[in-house]
Amino acid sequence: GESRLVTVRATPLTARLMLLVLRDITEKERVEQMRRDFVSNTSHELKTPVGAVSLLAEAIESASDDPAQVRVFASRLSAEATRLATLTSRIMNLSRLQAADELNDERDASIDEIIASAVEAHAVQADSAGVQLVRGGTRGLFVRGDAQVLSEAVGNLIANAIAYSPKGSSVGIGVKAADGVVEIAVTDRGIGISEEDQDRVFERFYRADQARSRRTGGTGLGLAIVKHAVQRHGGDVRLWSREGRGSTFTIRLPLIDSPHDEPPRKRARKEK
Ligand code: ADP
Repeated sequence: GESRLVTVRATPLTARLMLLVLRDITEKERVEQMRRDFVSNTSHELKTPVGAVSLLAEAIESASDDPAQVRVFASRLSAEATRLATLTSRIMNLSRLQAADELNDERDASIDEIIASAVEAHAVQADSAGVQLVRGGTRGLFVRGDAQVLSEAVGNLIANAIAYSPKGSSVGIGVKAADGVVEIAVTDRGIGISEEDQDRVFERFYRADQARSRRTGGTGLGLAIVKHAVQRHGGDVRLWSREGRGSTFTIRLPLIDSPHDEPPRKRARKEK
C-alpha cells in the first residue's frame, strides 16, 4: 500500500543521510584517534629519558663519597636533560603545527634569510662533524609565511643531512624557482634511506634504524615537523634517496613576487 511506497522512496535518502552522519563520525574518530596516538607515543618516548634522569640522580646521591664518580654521573645527567629539553621542545612545536594554532604567516619571508639562519643554527654541528655546508642556486626569492617556522623546517633537513653523512663530505642547499614554486633542496651523500623506509620517515617518532638514530640522539620528530610546517604553508616535501648513496629532501612552496617589485607606496614615500 501507500506506506510501503513511502518507505521505498525514503530509503535512499535515509541511507544517504546515515552515510553522511557515519562519515562525519569516522572523521571525528580518526582525528580523536590521532590525538590519542600522539599522546600515547609522546608519553612512551618521554619515559626513557625521564627514567634515566631519576636513575642518574639516585646514582649521584649514592656516589657522594666519590667525587670522580659524581662528575661522571652528573655529566650524563646533563646530557639526558639536554635530550629531554630537545624532545619536549620538538613535541611542543609539532603539536602547535598540528593544531590549527595561528602562525605568524602574513608576511613576506625571504628564502635567503630563511636558509641563512638555518645554516647558522647548524654551523657548530657541521663543524664538529667535519661536514661542509654549501649554499647554491637562485637568490632573492620570497614566500608568504612564518620565516621562523620555515627556517626550523630547513634546519631539521640540514641537521639530518649532517647527522647521516660521513666526515669530510658536503651537504648542498640549493634553491630554484619554476612555475610559481620555489624548491629548496637539501642534498647529502650519506647513508641514504631504504625504499621501504622512505614512505615512513615522515611519521612521528619513526626512525629508520633505531640503533643508528639513537647514537645520533635523534627524536624521530624532525621530519614530521618539516612535513607539517610545509603543509601549513601550502607546500609539500619530497624525498629522493638511495641506500649508501645519499638523500635529497626537497621543500616546495608557493612563490610570491619579490616585495621589492611591488611596494609602490613605500617607494613613493621614500622618494619624496
Ligand atoms: P631523527 O631525529 O631520528 O633524525 P627525523 O624525523 O628527522 O628523526 O628522521 C626520521 C628518520 O629518517 C631518521 O631516524 C633516519 O633514520 C631517517 N633520515 C632522516 N634524514 C635522513 C638523511 N638525510 N639520511 C639518512 N637517513 C635519514
